[in-house]
Amino acid sequence: MAMTLFEKLPILADAAKYDASCASSGGPKHKAKQGGLGSTTGAGICHSYTPDGRCVSLLKILLTNYCLYDCAYCINRRSSNVRRARFSVDEVVTLTTEFYKRNYIEGLFLSSGIIRSADYTMEQMMLVAKKLRREHGFAGYIHLKTIPEASPWLIEQAGLWADRLSINLELSRETSLRKLAPEKNAETIQFAMRQTGERIAEAKKEKRRFSPAGQSTQIIVGADDASDLDVLRSSSRMYEKYKLKRVYYSGFSPIPDASKALPVKAPPLVREHRLYQADWLLRYYEFSIEDLASASDDGMLDLGIDPKFAWALKHREAFPVDVNTAAREMLLRVPGLGKRAVDQIISSRRHHRLRAEDIRRLSPGFKRALPFLIAADHHSTALLDRLDLRSRIAPSQQLELF
Ligand code: SF4
Repeated sequence: MAMTLFEKLPILADAAKYDASCASSGGPKHKAKQGGLGSTTGAGICHSYTPDGRCVSLLKILLTNYCLYDCAYCINRRSSNVRRARFSVDEVVTLTTEFYKRNYIEGLFLSSGIIRSADYTMEQMMLVAKKLRREHGFAGYIHLKTIPEASPWLIEQAGLWADRLSINLELSRETSLRKLAPEKNAETIQFAMRQTGERIAEAKKEKRRFSPAGQSTQIIVGADDASDLDVLRSSSRMYEKYKLKRVYYSGFSPIPDASKALPVKAPPLVREHRLYQADWLLRYYEFSIEDLASASDDGMLDLGIDPKFAWALKHREAFPVDVNTAAREMLLRVPGLGKRAVDQIISSRRHHRLRAEDIRRLSPGFKRALPFLIAADHHSTALLDRLDLRSRIAPSQQLELF
């Protein structure tokens, strides 16, 4: 008997949860007791951030979890024994418009396993976006996952209707990709990213619409033995070459009947968090890969402290930094000082010499920053030279970057 739309929804929403581009999707399931309010069970709604910083709720689903490919790390792979379902184009359009009208969502995140061929699947996804825009005047956010093996023309069409396109790299090492996802090809993925990047840049110049929220990708962490620095080198190259808006890091989740080539355990959740912090330092804090490498002995980020603090501990000779005279680049390296605080310090010091109290007002991370700073009334290296500086500043499990 054919499945109904609402039988397919939990299957295809659950199958989409492994994609990291929607931050809340990995959360545990809750369902309110009788008389209570709210449920996070099986609705397929996740939250994501638009380029202007707004948090939007998206219907996050797969068009289908049938797939011709057999990527070892994926629950939807051909050889996986999962319940399968498939939406038609019209069903996804109906779900999106109905959820939108009820104010459940502000957009759609659509990915898919590969059925029949890469072109056929890409065309189906593109048609969902086209129908939503053309036939329903849908102005909400649309994020389409693209299939790198699809024809460039189809990917280009998708970019006309979507706000964001993403092409998953999946694994940072080509050797791992060959081993764990033999039907995928690193060169094809990079070609699709380059082409999408070029189309986005052209459209911007010509002031026409093409994936206006840019392109992003996802790297799975912990499925192979790539180190954090391998992963970050890959991200850094992609940011530079293809002008990606975001790289998402998704901790590998062990799956049933997994290949022996995969680890049996998921990496610690904090690993993803440290990668996002390091990624942030590379993009907004003028750190280089070499800086991050110099704070690591084995290519892995320190799980106990954030990467900026790890760098400062290894490079104590670069501190203390004078808040009244130091270059912006050095202020950005002070643990506890965020970008906004640094800009406020630079603007305030034009008018008067800053004292420790001024920094306390400007930065919530003041306590952490103090040992690394000189201010008009503060010049003490006593803490900076202490062997136990790490344990004095970092709580036993430190998560905050700034
Ligand atoms: S192509 Fe995508 S959906 Fe198919 S097995 Fe590979 S990762 Fe999974």
